[in-house]
Amino acid sequence: MASPIVKVDDKHVPLYRIVWIADLPHFCGEEDCQREGYYEIRLDVDDSVWTNAQERDEVLEAMNRWCGDPRDDPNNGMY
Ligand SMILES: [Zn+2]
Repeated sequence: MASPIVKVDDKHVPLYRIVWIADLPHFCGEEDCQREGYYEIRLDVDDSVWTNAQERDEVLEAMNRWCGDPRDDPNNGMY
C-alpha cells in the first residue's frame, strides 16, 4: 500500500493535507525573495512548503498513487 506520508524539504507531510501543487516555479519579482524557482505545495490551514522541480514531481507521483488512480501505469515498475 502506498504511504500517505511524503517528504518535502525536511518535512514529512501527510498527503491528505495537500490542497494544491504548483505547476510552475514561483516568481514574484521581489529582490529578496527566497522562494524564487521553487514550487509551492499548498497545505491546509494557510500553510505552504516549498520544493524543487524533482521533489515536486515526486510529491505529485505520491499524490497520484495515494488518490488511487484506477488506471494501471505501464511504466510503474518502481513500487
Ligand atoms: Zn516571492
